[in-house]
Amino acid sequence: MRYAHASRAADKPLSRADILFKVELALARMENGDYGYCAICRSEIPIEELETDPSTVSCQTCRRSDN
Ligand SMILES: [Zn+2]
Repeated sequence: MRYAHASRAADKPLSRADILFKVELALARMENGDYGYCAICRSEIPIEELETDPSTVSCQTCRRSDN
């Protein structure tokens, strides 16, 4: 049997708890006015990145050096 999502290779799978945590973090950041800004370098996160992952807290550059 084949699974439609099986080709999603780049990201490691997140557990439900991980996703919930990230969403809560994003909501808290919205309240603080921090949402959309990188938590590490404080630069603005491009809207395309937020659309791809609305719960993201750091920009692509920082995420890359982080991993
Ligand atoms: Zn950054």
